Amino acid sequence: MSGQRSDVIIVGGGLVGAASALALTRAGWRVVLIEGRLPDFSALEQGWDARIYAVSPANRAFLERLNAWPDGSRIGTINVMDVCGDAGGRIAFHASDAGAEALAWIAENRWLLAALWRELEAAGIEVVSGVRPVALHSSASEASLQLDDGSTRRAALIVGADGANSWVREACAIKGAIKPYGQSGVVANFACEKPHQGVARQWFDGTSILAWLPMAGARISMVWSSPDPDALLALSPDDLAELVAAAGGHALGKLELLAPAAAFPLRLIQPEAVIAPRVALVGDAAHTVHPLAGQGVNLGFQDAAVLAELLAGGGDAGEWLTLRRYERSRREAVRTMQHTCDGLFTLFHQLDKPLLGWLRNAGLSLTHKLPLVKRELARRAIGF
Ligand SMILES: Cc1cc2nc3c(=O)[nH]c(=O)nc-3n(C[C@H](O)[C@H](O)[C@H](O)COP(=O)(O)OP(=O)(O)OC[C@H]3O[C@@H](n4cnc5c(N)ncnc54)[C@H](O)[C@@H]3O)c2cc1C
Repeated sequence: MSGQRSDVIIVGGGLVGAASALALTRAGWRVVLIEGRLPDFSALEQGWDARIYAVSPANRAFLERLNAWPDGSRIGTINVMDVCGDAGGRIAFHASDAGAEALAWIAENRWLLAALWRELEAAGIEVVSGVRPVALHSSASEASLQLDDGSTRRAALIVGADGANSWVREACAIKGAIKPYGQSGVVANFACEKPHQGVARQWFDGTSILAWLPMAGARISMVWSSPDPDALLALSPDDLAELVAAAGGHALGKLELLAPAAAFPLRLIQPEAVIAPRVALVGDAAHTVHPLAGQGVNLGFQDAAVLAELLAGGGDAGEWLTLRRYERSRREAVRTMQHTCDGLFTLFHQLDKPLLGWLRNAGLSLTHKLPLVKRELARRAIGF
């Protein structure tokens, strides 16, 4: 077969694809990264990015090992998580409940991406940008990708890191269940009048879920999972800031919008498989979850870490038994997170069932009083 050959081709240079490229290179493989759209590097580290991630301690350690953790001046710390139900239920987790330094760190998407792409360059990883694959073939010994510039690339393994609408997943004819939540996540950043003291706040009101996440300095990032995102996006900056402040009981005083709000549709995607002959899926290509627990990209970083770890021994990067081990190793963590988030979403959106209303609020308050259960929940949430 013609075309340049490497050990691994990664399709998609978002956070998970870039992290996979670095981790697999560190594991000794010759990696090529194919990204359809090159990031605009001049704009990556400017302004405030409304798209933020609550990065777990396990994933911070992973990114630090890759030398791709952003500058500390842009990082917020979650020391406490305060969750309010729709009828008086309440639970608070402290980092000390999990015996950890922090529950999570808040990092902006563009700063994370810049740190990862800087390291891709420093590591000398070949990046082919501005092209997209048009055909994927796999044989017993390798896989090949035909690109839309007419060239062909070959490798022992192709990693699909091309997001929720993954082309690689489709090219492998992997079917999946897709459940739209009928909501979008509206994201925006605000300066706040009072210090947030590292407290992340979340309110379930029966129709929407509002989260305030502490950023660096006196700033918060909002993720409002709402059935009517257009109504929020249509508001003037001042009206949106006042609505968000009021929805959170003015807990941080007056808010001021830092950059325009944006919305992204929320869907649960569960492919029937995350591997195919000589192909592995990672990140949103392999799964999506409701953002109520802030775990989407965390699952993706763990896919990258586990895949690189399983492939660290050398040999054939696309060996079927190793891919099966990858699928098995990730199945439980991904399913547990998807079921937990989906279950909580359903539980807090059953307004017509009064018994459930009592149960969910009593459940929150009861769990709050059970230190051992709380410790276990907190430890799971941060990726122990
Ligand atoms: C607008 C928006 C806002 C979000 N905000 C939040 C948030 O605030 N908090 C949160 O936790 N989650 C948020 N999410 C979800 C979160 O972004 C994802 O969970 C995370 O980015 C997944 O990373 P990924 O690398 O797997 O996929 P992606 O980030 O989707 O990256 C996929 C990459 O693949 C490239 N690509 C796609 N198709 C091809 C192709 N055929 N060929 C070559 N390259 C291709 C894309 O250009 C992209 O760079 C948001 C999502 C969106 C869309």
